[in-house]
Amino acid sequence: MTFSREEHLWIPESDLEGMSVDTLAVRAGQIRTGQLEHSDAIFPTSSFVYGSAAQAAARFGGEEPGNIYSRFTNPTVQAFEARIAAMEGGEKAVATASGMAAILSTCMALLQSGDHVICSRGVFGTTNVLFQKYMARFGVETSFVSLTDLDAWRDAVRPQTRMLFIETPSNPLCEVADMAALSELSKANDALFVVDNCFCTPVLQRPLEQGADLIIHSATKYLDGQGRCVGGVVVGPAKYLDEIYGFLRSAGPTMSPFNAWVFQKGLETLPIRMRAHCNNALELAEWLEGQPAVAKVYYAGLESHPQHELAKKQQDGFGGVLSFQVQGGREEAWRFIDATRMISITANLGDVKTTITHPATTTHGRLSPEDKAKAGITENLIRLSVGIEAIDDLKIDLIRGFQALKD
Ligand SMILES: *Cc1c(COP(=O)(O)O)cnc(C)c1O
Repeated sequence: MTFSREEHLWIPESDLEGMSVDTLAVRAGQIRTGQLEHSDAIFPTSSFVYGSAAQAAARFGGEEPGNIYSRFTNPTVQAFEARIAAMEGGEKAVATASGMAAILSTCMALLQSGDHVICSRGVFGTTNVLFQKYMARFGVETSFVSLTDLDAWRDAVRPQTRMLFIETPSNPLCEVADMAALSELSKANDALFVVDNCFCTPVLQRPLEQGADLIIHSATKYLDGQGRCVGGVVVGPAKYLDEIYGFLRSAGPTMSPFNAWVFQKGLETLPIRMRAHCNNALELAEWLEGQPAVAKVYYAGLESHPQHELAKKQQDGFGGVLSFQVQGGREEAWRFIDATRMISITANLGDVKTTITHPATTTHGRLSPEDKAKAGITENLIRLSVGIEAIDDLKIDLIRGFQALKD
């Protein structure tokens, strides 16, 4: 490929080979227009024009590559897709309107009536609803099993099993799946192994390198990291991504150019943000473990965590989400949460601002008491998505919670 500084539009893919995720985050997938702008351009346009009727015909006929309509392709969206694909080490990426649209599009493109899915029990609540309520209506049945119980995964396999779906680490208890083992199981049964990599991002974990077939992201979380917009993406080999793209083009849950631009800029700071999240979360987890009013802390960075060694092997960091139980029940958990003043009471996560949540009555409130018990969502459990504020200021705010438990 010839490449001159004067006419560069894309950094050639061959140059990106072997670069670290830190470099790819700021350099991969950039488009430059004739203005030679330094930052990434944004193309907020629904359609594209042609030089002639013949060119329009060639574009529609597929003989000439190029943009037609932003439900199909848009340069800003493609730039975001190229960047995240490079960071995850995937051949292709397809951006979607939300994380849920990424999961839906994957299922619609790659499953059919009669297929069976095995999903880990602790997944994002809406993912659970999508499988149990909607996919079931179209003849796709889902079994839910414990993320860490390999025998349960093996027992759940049926001749019709076509997909294994997990999140690792899990929300909110930070359980860690053995991706190599699940990848082996999926291959032995000709099923797809899909990993929702929302919690780790490619900075801390690259599931394709560990045997996953497809990666899902809610870009809404860490990829943006500043709570600005909702989006999603699927990453993996072209043989699957082309099918998913085909569904998206027909069904329409595509990402807007504006959102793609925000996510593209978000990726640039993702590596330094993730390290700051990890450092703060580990320090808080260790500090919380030493508090008399804390019954238990769940964080894979702690040596007390049952999958600590596995997390060390699979991940380049332990992430920004942790949870802990206070002594008592719902009343004590709520009193603790309400006593904080800086930390945001919200169910969102992955933000530079620290957020605090009571899973039993919010994110996991729809679960039946039995399912809550199975998933370990107790009334005294509090989840923190640790942001990048100064650690001492976070401790000062959490001490307000501990003080409220004494009063
Ligand atoms: C938020 C979230 C989703 C859904 O993403 P949206 O962008 O809200 O549609 C999926 N998986 C995980 C792990 C999430 O945290």
